[in-house]
Amino acid sequence: MNTEEQIRKMTDIMASFVGYTAVRLPDDVVSKLSSLRAAEPDPAALSIYDMMFENMRLAAELKRPSCQDTGLVQFRVECGSRFPLLESLEKLLGDAVRKATAETPLRPNAVEPFEEVNTGDNTGSGAPAVWWHIVPGWDGCAIHTYLAGGGCSLPGHAAVLMPGEGYEGAVRFVMDRVAEYGPNACPPLLIGVGIANSAETAAMLSKEALLRPVGSHNADPKAAEMEQLLEDGINAMGIGPQGMGGNASVLGVNLEKAVRHPATLAVGVSFSCWTHRRGHIVFDSDLKFKTDTHTGFTSEQ
Ligand code: SF4
Repeated sequence: MNTEEQIRKMTDIMASFVGYTAVRLPDDVVSKLSSLRAAEPDPAALSIYDMMFENMRLAAELKRPSCQDTGLVQFRVECGSRFPLLESLEKLLGDAVRKATAETPLRPNAVEPFEEVNTGDNTGSGAPAVWWHIVPGWDGCAIHTYLAGGGCSLPGHAAVLMPGEGYEGAVRFVMDRVAEYGPNACPPLLIGVGIANSAETAAMLSKEALLRPVGSHNADPKAAEMEQLLEDGINAMGIGPQGMGGNASVLGVNLEKAVRHPATLAVGVSFSCWTHRRGHIVFDSDLKFKTDTHTGFTSEQ
């Protein structure tokens, strides 16, 4: 394959994968929803879970997105410095989004600010978002995909707290946001939290936290404890699936951290909804790929 053929092949695979993630939720989310449903005693909440599973069944059967809001496409790329298509990747991902928008189809959601015009293909200034991490010496490329819906992006927030507010202040910041916006963001939610030195770092970490598997925990025991305390606290609010009340309000809480300045304690929070459409696909240098989020995905979808 020459470079042009390789670019076409990877574009097709990525378009197909993005479309697939719009239709089928990742394995970890389906499994978590299933266990939440099994543990739910409330009849109204149970009927919501039943509707979610019926929605998933019909989406797969009809090959239609699991929600009408297919969001804006975001990519976190961990690309090897020796990956053959490194230089073409950003353009290729934009082409893949255009293709997925036309073929899946995805709802066009990219509105250019100030012009207030929908571009019609989910691309535009800064869209799709591509966040880069270069892995020195590797010849492969791992790509996290995420469809950021409007309702679950709306609650996103970051602030720099006075350090004297402590981790209690960070918890209050997250809980207040969940109390205010949680019921409208289509729970059960996945809550991403970032703790860092500045607002933009905390915000980015909170989004990266959403890309971690549901049920995973931060390697730092204290950060993991805070994840668990937040999860227990938010569940105790009783928001329940679709805000109708119930045992569980979250799929989980994932927290990522970076050092903070002695004079700052920044906290960021990102939400994802029950249709948590994240994907993870890893290519080798021959463009053979595997995914650990979507069992059954092939490039022929
Ligand atoms: S919050 Fe999620 S499930 Fe609700 S409308 Fe938005 S994308 Fe769809």
